[in-house]
Amino acid sequence: MQDLTEGVARFQRDVFPAKAELFAHLATHHTPHTLFISCSDARVVPELITGTEPGDLFVIRTAGNLVPAYTPEADGVAASIEYAVAALGVKDIVVCGHSACGAMTALAQGHDLSGAPAVAAWLRHADASQAHTTAAGDVPALVRQNVLAQLANLATHPSVAKALAERKVALHGWVYDIPTGRVEDLAAAGPALAV
Ligand SMILES: [Zn+2]
Repeated sequence: MQDLTEGVARFQRDVFPAKAELFAHLATHHTPHTLFISCSDARVVPELITGTEPGDLFVIRTAGNLVPAYTPEADGVAASIEYAVAALGVKDIVVCGHSACGAMTALAQGHDLSGAPAVAAWLRHADASQAHTTAAGDVPALVRQNVLAQLANLATHPSVAKALAERKVALHGWVYDIPTGRVEDLAAAGPALAV
């Protein structure tokens, strides 16, 4: 915890003054251009890898960057998506998977999750991802398929479907590679992104 308190002190001393004008603007403006959905993994830092400033990204982070398909019983993820798209009017939505994802590794390698029932239940939202991955145990393949499956889930949310129909939003699937810092744009890999 000491690291965090020291970090806060450093932020107030070194970072904040340099961006004081930006923060003053942000105090009364919330207009992110992108909804960025990534894994909760500590090694994935959306603002860092995209070179963005505070206020640019509306971020949702879930284990395995999973986006449950829409159901009328709204949850936190659905509410955040709706708010970003319908209220804030983001122009782009990125679902970003990453290398060595613990959630995808557990699925691909069939780890015993009986001691983590909430994780096991949550990972059911990746059932379609698994169904599309032919090679069992292939974590990178599952990471990619999972991003595509979550984009499809995203499109089931009424706010997203409406924005897509009106061409007000574009969906993007990315995979971030931790050891190289590279970002793969899955749209460049094929037409599978046409959701
Ligand atoms: Zn992950």
